[in-house]
Amino acid sequence: MGKVTGFLEFERIAESVEPANERKRHWREFVRELDDGAAQTQAARCMDCGVPFCHNGCPVNNLIPDFNDLVYRADWKRALESLLSTNNFPEFTGRICPAPCEAACTLNISGEAVGIKSIEHKIIDKGWEEGWVRPQPPARLTGKRIAVVGSGPAGLACAQQLARAGHGVTVFEKNDRLGGLLRYGIPDFKLDKALIDRRIVQMRAEGVAFRTGVYVGNATDACGIGQFTVMNPAQLHDDFDAIVVAGGAETPRDLPVPGRELAGVHYAMDFLPQQNRANAGDALEQQLLATGKHVVVIGGGDTGSDCVGTSNRHGAASVTQFELLPMPPKHEDKALVWPYWPLKLRTSSSHEEGCQRDWSVATKRFNADDQGRVQSLTAVRLHWQNGKMSEVAGSEFEVRADLVLLAMGFTAPRANVLDAFGLERDPRGNAKANTEGADGYRTNVAKVFAAGDMRRGQSLVVWAIREGRQCAQVVDEFLMGSSTLPR
Ligand SMILES: Cc1cc2nc3c(=O)[nH]c(=O)nc-3n(C[C@H](O)[C@H](O)[C@H](O)COP(=O)(O)OP(=O)(O)OC[C@H]3O[C@@H](n4cnc5c(N)ncnc54)[C@H](O)[C@@H]3O)c2cc1C
Ligand code: SF4
Repeated sequence: MGKVTGFLEFERIAESVEPANERKRHWREFVRELDDGAAQTQAARCMDCGVPFCHNGCPVNNLIPDFNDLVYRADWKRALESLLSTNNFPEFTGRICPAPCEAACTLNISGEAVGIKSIEHKIIDKGWEEGWVRPQPPARLTGKRIAVVGSGPAGLACAQQLARAGHGVTVFEKNDRLGGLLRYGIPDFKLDKALIDRRIVQMRAEGVAFRTGVYVGNATDACGIGQFTVMNPAQLHDDFDAIVVAGGAETPRDLPVPGRELAGVHYAMDFLPQQNRANAGDALEQQLLATGKHVVVIGGGDTGSDCVGTSNRHGAASVTQFELLPMPPKHEDKALVWPYWPLKLRTSSSHEEGCQRDWSVATKRFNADDQGRVQSLTAVRLHWQNGKMSEVAGSEFEVRADLVLLAMGFTAPRANVLDAFGLERDPRGNAKANTEGADGYRTNVAKVFAAGDMRRGQSLVVWAIREGRQCAQVVDEFLMGSSTLPR
């Protein structure tokens, strides 16, 4: 434990952010990491509790009290070693993880949690700046070949672990660039794409081969960003000793109400990746822009919030966000929910940049102008009781909407990818595989494993990293009879 009385002496220190009216003018990250001294003070607040609940709250089980102590003592290099022993990509989670660890921090019972995420951000950024993050090529090669389908955080974490164990790993990605939703989904202002490129360079040096623009599946339903070719899964079976499918959960939830077909009503994922591509320098023929439009975002989660931030950067005339569920309480009842992730009102940096938020609202229909474009939306207020909703009589209202973005989550992986591999599904439509025991991450098809959103359904980057790591350990054991990879 760093400083015994640290938690009594120091307040939580927030990372500084560029003011909203300035950051809205660009696409760059706007959160500034703590300086060394502030990070050490933050770390000094850690009580090193006998039972570190934060460690369990973190899906990759980061050794949080350990690295807090090392940061307090300015032993940055060992703090980095500790962090990297459980998390392949802390530069991603240190920026975009919702930090369930902090909800589980003991200090959070009566006050404010240690800023664990900000410490993680600091350690890894310092590690890269100092040149301490280097490729770790294996000491010997096994001669085994593994195909990983999908280059999101699950596929990348799995590939990196397997390559470090000495296997020959090839990652197949249908899009023109690597990174999954880190690349095409999460806005650049939350995650600079150069961070992904830097990791790919490291992974290539560790022996991972990447093949972009390759859709693995049947030609009839092939898709991808940029030009792509199609590869039948049978070919992977012939060429590789094991296959990991980590293709994400790409089926968006639809809103089948009258007017859904109107021009101007789009899925969030028709909108967000285009801006990622524009930022990367791609010339888009007809980019979907919010400029000058009255935008309505339907869905109150991360994706919806990213649509808000992107629309404001385009220069939308107004941005409104509707959520079906009631407005959560501003503060959770900690006695009831700690150390679990609480339901409470969360205001993202994108909301702070300008957005009208409304809860308990259901969309009834989209209304067209005389050109067949959406011009307004009719909605109704909801009454929630015992988890059941009913419409409030006479509460119908109309709002102006030139652009509607559907951000209501994702229901499952693309069915055709699962079918092409012959994979059984669980009741939610995900690739069916457990996580525990000898069968962990194994699908019903011999030598095919599944990880990340494709197995668990729509989730978080940190869960994808966990699944990629754990799946790698299981695959290593499957190929070699035993494994020294950590779970
Ligand atoms: C807009 C948005 C914002 C988000 N923001 C956050 C956030 O702030 N914090 C957070 O923790 N989580 C966030 N998430 C969730 C997070 O991005 C996902 O949970 C995570 O990326 C899942 O990782 P994955 O590797 O399983 O899948 P993905 O990241 O979806 O990657 C799957 C990859 O597989 C490829 N692929 C699929 N099928 C094939 C095929 N047949 N052949 C070849 N390649 C294929 C896809 O092109 C894709 O690149 C967000 C999600 C969205 C949509
Ligand atoms: S990965 Fe997420 S949950 Fe784990 S320590 Fe970092 S911020 Fe916390």
